Parts: sequence; structure tokens; C-alpha cells
Amino acid sequence: MKQVVKRSLWAVAMAAALVSCGQRERSEHNAPRAAAVAVPAALSSKSAKQLFGGMPDASVQAPAPYGSYAKGCVAGAVQLPETGPTWQAMRLSRNRNWGHPEMIDYLKDLSAKVARLPGWEGIYVGDISQPRGGPMLTGHASHQMGLDADVWMLPPKRLNLSRDEREKISSISMRRASGAYVNSDWTPQHHEVLKAAASDPRVARIFVFPGAKVQMCNDEKGDRTYLRKIRPWYGHHYHFHVRLNCPRGATGCVPQDPPPAGDGCADAQAWVNNILNPPPPPKNPPAPTPPRPELTLADLPGQCAGVLQSN
Ligand SMILES: [Zn+2]
Repeated sequence: MKQVVKRSLWAVAMAAALVSCGQRERSEHNAPRAAAVAVPAALSSKSAKQLFGGMPDASVQAPAPYGSYAKGCVAGAVQLPETGPTWQAMRLSRNRNWGHPEMIDYLKDLSAKVARLPGWEGIYVGDISQPRGGPMLTGHASHQMGLDADVWMLPPKRLNLSRDEREKISSISMRRASGAYVNSDWTPQHHEVLKAAASDPRVARIFVFPGAKVQMCNDEKGDRTYLRKIRPWYGHHYHFHVRLNCPRGATGCVPQDPPPAGDGCADAQAWVNNILNPPPPPKNPPAPTPPRPELTLADLPGQCAGVLQSN
């Protein structure tokens, strides 16, 4: 009910916004691709996370990511079905099981491969994106274009969890020694899951804690090319994070530089060494970076106003 009220308030705000748009913007708004629409001043200064965090469903537009992973939105997102033959979406109350169709296809394909591994019925999928992407009220800085997804480290034993169970059960941490090493819950299957996830050509990067990357570097006896895409990062011991490349033809999507050449194993080992033997703090520590200002709608690509205004 609350959602309905919110939705209709939003509709009123949007109707007012559209009235102030000229004819040109209006015809662009009706075009199949989300065009950059003139953002009414009153909207452009609004908090982007408030605007996007309140959207209950996807825009009725051709699927397209706009902007970059940590400053963007997604048109025509698709919802990952809550339960499939080889996956379940977790924490449904967050309504973050929406993504670009390429991400949804990727997750279905990955889950089918993982389901062949002993002990894994498939995958538990954490946050993808909000229905229209954009910044979130809580959590992630990225996940804004429907091209990032979190996959739980907990091997799914069953895929018939109720909505309630999906709110309550937790994933498991894989790390010990502050992420320098994997712990005893890490299995060869975790290696295979991450390898399958990274080997897909749609993937740009996988983020996981440094100890997991080093473990994989040490255990991999075959083709090592996929290791380049496995990037050590902070956190990421309850889940790993998949980031897809900009889909072909997605001209509004700004790609990240590709990872450095090579398998990245020496860099990951250096990170681990720093965890185990932290270097002494610098004599003149740099001034702390001020917190990033909150994104407004004007900070996002122009198309994102159209994504918000679409039905
Ligand atoms: Zn993530």
C-alpha cells in the first residue's frame, strides 16, 4: 500500500516535470531508446538515490546501460526470476534483483554450470541493481547500470527457500587472517565456481578478497588466462562480485580500463604480504579524503532522467 502511495506521488511529480519539457524532449522521450531529456531544475538537484531508490519497477524502454558502474542507470532492466531451476534470488525485500538482460542471461548460464559441481545445487544471487539502477539508499557505490551482481559464497543445498528464509539466512565468510588466506570452508568447488564465472567472455572483472585470488593462483594447474579478470579487493569474502563488460552496441555505457596484462598473481601476493606485515604508517600521512558528495540527478548521464520519467 505504501508503495502505491509513493508511486502515485512520483507520477504527479513526473507529470509536472513532463509538462515543463518542450515538444522536442517529449518526442525524444517517446523514442524507443532513452534520450537525454532536459532535466527540470527542481529535479536535477534532487538526491539520485532517493529518486532511483523509490522506483518499484523497470522502465518501459529498450534495454540500455547509461553512464558508468558507479554513476549511471539502466533502461529496460529485466527482473531475475525469484527462483529458477539452478538459482534463487536472495533478500527479495530489497528489490535489487534487476539487471540488464545480458546480466540476467549470464547469471542463468553461470548457475547451470555451477549446478553440475558436487555440493552446489546452483547459486544464491545477492544484489544486482534496483529496477532502474542508479545509486542505492544503502550499500554499494557501484551496481548502478545493471551490469554488476553479487554471488554468495554459501553453496546452495536447496533451492526452495521461502521469502522469509531468504531474508534470514546468511552467507558464509571464506577468509581468515583479515583476508590474507582462505579458511577451511573454501573448497575446490569455490575455485571452479569463480573460474567459471571469470571465464565467460561477457565478464570484465570479478572482485574477491586477496587471499582467495592467491589461493586460486597457487591451485590453478591449467589455463591461467581467466585469472587476469579475478581482481583482489576489500571485503568480498561473503560473496564475490561479477562485473560485465558494456554490452555490444551500448553506446551510452562507459567501460572501465581492462585489467593489467598478465594473471595478476604477483600483485595479489603483494597485497597479502601487506596484510600480514603492514608497512609502517607514513610519517606525513595524506589528509583524509573528504566524503564524496551525494550524487544528484544532474550528476548522472542525461538519459537517466528519461529512464526515471518512462512508464
Ligand atoms: Zn557487489
